[in-house]
Amino acid sequence: MLRIPLIASLLLMGGPWFGAVMLFAAEVDSPTTDETVIVFDQVHVLPMDSERILPNQRVLVQGDRIIALAPADELAIPDGAMRIAGEGRYLLPGLAEMHGHVPPTVDFSGMPARYLDDVLLLYLAGGVTTVRGMLGHEHQLRLKDDIATGKRLGPTLYLAGPSFNQHTVTSPEQARERVRQHKAEGWDLLKIHPGLSLEQYQAIADEAKKQGIDFAGHVPEAVGIEQAIKLGSRTIDHLDGFMAALGGFDTPLTVQDMAELVALTKAHQVAVVPTQALWETIIGAANREQLENFDELKYMPARVLAGWQRYLDSASGAYYTGETAAIHAENRQRLLSALYQAGVTILMGTDAPQLYSVPGLSLRRELPLMAAAGMSHYDILRSGTVLVGEYFADLDTFGQVKKGHRADLLLVDGNPLDDLSVLYQPAGVMVRGQWLSRVDLDAKLAEIEAARVTENTER
Ligand SMILES: [Zn+2]
Repeated sequence: MLRIPLIASLLLMGGPWFGAVMLFAAEVDSPTTDETVIVFDQVHVLPMDSERILPNQRVLVQGDRIIALAPADELAIPDGAMRIAGEGRYLLPGLAEMHGHVPPTVDFSGMPARYLDDVLLLYLAGGVTTVRGMLGHEHQLRLKDDIATGKRLGPTLYLAGPSFNQHTVTSPEQARERVRQHKAEGWDLLKIHPGLSLEQYQAIADEAKKQGIDFAGHVPEAVGIEQAIKLGSRTIDHLDGFMAALGGFDTPLTVQDMAELVALTKAHQVAVVPTQALWETIIGAANREQLENFDELKYMPARVLAGWQRYLDSASGAYYTGETAAIHAENRQRLLSALYQAGVTILMGTDAPQLYSVPGLSLRRELPLMAAAGMSHYDILRSGTVLVGEYFADLDTFGQVKKGHRADLLLVDGNPLDDLSVLYQPAGVMVRGQWLSRVDLDAKLAEIEAARVTENTER
C-alpha cells in the first residue's frame, strides 16, 4: 500500500481525487492597473538583507515589482498613487509555504466547488505569498499560469510534478524517461515518495542533474537519508528520514548521535523543511483537544475535518509512534536545533492542508516550534523569505524588500523580530503587487466561514 498517497487522498483531501475536471478561472475583483503606483508610506521596513530595520520609509510598487525604497522625506509620492498608511507599522517580504499542497481542481470527490479558491485565499490571509506545491496533478500547471497572469487570485506557485513512487516507476530507464517528461511539461521539481529502489533513485538523481531539474520530498527506505543527501535531494522534508536513520522513534538522542548526519547535510548544502507541528500530530505527540480547538478549522470543509478526525481516532499509520511519541517529538526538536546550530538551510513549511494544518494559518502552529528549537526570530523570518528567494533565484527575484523584487509584502502592526505573533493577523498582504487590506481579508475569510456553515446545513 502506498503510504503518503493514501494519507493524501483519503485523509487530507477527504477522498480520492482522480476524476479531474477542467479548471474554471474565478474572476479577480478590480485589480489595480499595471501603471498604478502603490505607496507604503511611513513604514518601518525589514528588508531581510541583514538583521536591521529601516525606520520611516516609503516603498513604491508598480505592477508586480517594488520600484523604489527610501526614507519617507527623500522620496516623493507620484501623482495618482494609491497610499497605504504605514505609520507605526512594519513591512516585510511575504512568507512562503515550502511544503504545501493545492487541491487539484474546483470539483473533486464531493469537495465544495469553491475549495480550491478558498485554499488559495487562506494561504494569502496567512501571509503566504509563495507556495512550493509538493504534489502535482493534471491541470495544475494551468492553475499556476492563471495565478501568475492574474486570472485567479492566489500565492505564486512553484510546482512539483506527479509522484515518483513504486507504482509510477518501473525501472531505472523508465524513471529517466519520466524525469525528461516532467522537465518538458514545465514542472519545477520532481516529487519523491517512499517505495523507490536505490537503483531507481540513482537514475532519477542522475537524470535530474542532466536535465537541470531538482528532486525532493521523502526519503525512500531502500535509499536512506545518507544516499538521499549525497545524491543531491534539494531538500529533505519532514526530517523523518533522519529519525529513521538515527533510531529516534523511541530512544532519546544526543547531539553527538546526530553530529555526523548533520555535518553531511551541511556539507552537501541540502536544505530541510522540518514541518514540526504536523509531525507532532502524525506521530501522536500533539494534544488532541488543542488540535480540535484550533480556531482556523472553521475555514475547512467538513469532509476534510472528518478525515483529520479519523486519523486521530485510528491512532495508527506508517509514522505513528504512540507511547514513545513524546520522546520522538523531543528528538525532532533537538535535531532541528542541531541542524540550525550547524548552519543548515532551514525552510519554512507546514505541509498544509495536512492534518490540522490549515493553509497559511498553519504558520502560527509551526513558527513557535521553530523558536522553541532555538531559532532566532530573524532566522525564522529568513526561512520563509530571503532563503526562499535564494532557492528560486533561477525563476524570479523575490524574498526581500528591495528595488526590483517581486512585490510580495506583509504589513504588520508590530515588530516581528520582537513578537512573531504580529505575523498572524497582518494589516494587509500584497501579492505580486495586488493589495489585500485587513478589511478585504476579513471579508473573504467571513465568506469562507459562511460557506462552510451553509454546506453543513445542506448536508
Ligand atoms: Zn506533503
